[in-house]
Amino acid sequence: TVGAVAVDTEGNVACATSTGGMTNKMEGRVGDTPCIGCGGYADNKVGAVSSTGHGEAIMKVTLSRLILFHMEQGRSAEEASDLGLAYMKKRVQGLGGVVTVDPKGAWAARFSSLQMAWVAVQDEQLHYGLHAGEHFTESA
Ligand code: ASP
Repeated sequence: TVGAVAVDTEGNVACATSTGGMTNKMEGRVGDTPCIGCGGYADNKVGAVSSTGHGEAIMKVTLSRLILFHMEQGRSAEEASDLGLAYMKKRVQGLGGVVTVDPKGAWAARFSSLQMAWVAVQDEQLHYGLHAGEHFTESA
């Protein structure tokens, strides 16, 4: 997956997600990436999420929208991302990772998969990481 979330100076948010799918996928498989609320979701009132990981699991819990639901309930991007990923693992044994941003620019890069590489640009500063280990994550 290559996924991105962004927020502009007016608090407009966006997400984008691209993937080659899973190795040895069935012909004709439609994964989570093009499904709204699964591989990504953006709402100016709440924030934006882009997801990667086990597509079938992501679709079963509509992971991106689930994370935004937690943000609507008052959770930070970081807390909401962890809640969504933890729920997916517990409920459907799915692993994955997300990048999440809120309209004020607070962001999180969180994952339950073995590793996830991420880059963040905030206030002209570059943050990046390629981390291994469960839920080793970054946020600001
Ligand atoms: N989520 C994608 C899929 O299941 C795989 C990926 O993370 O790129 O198709």
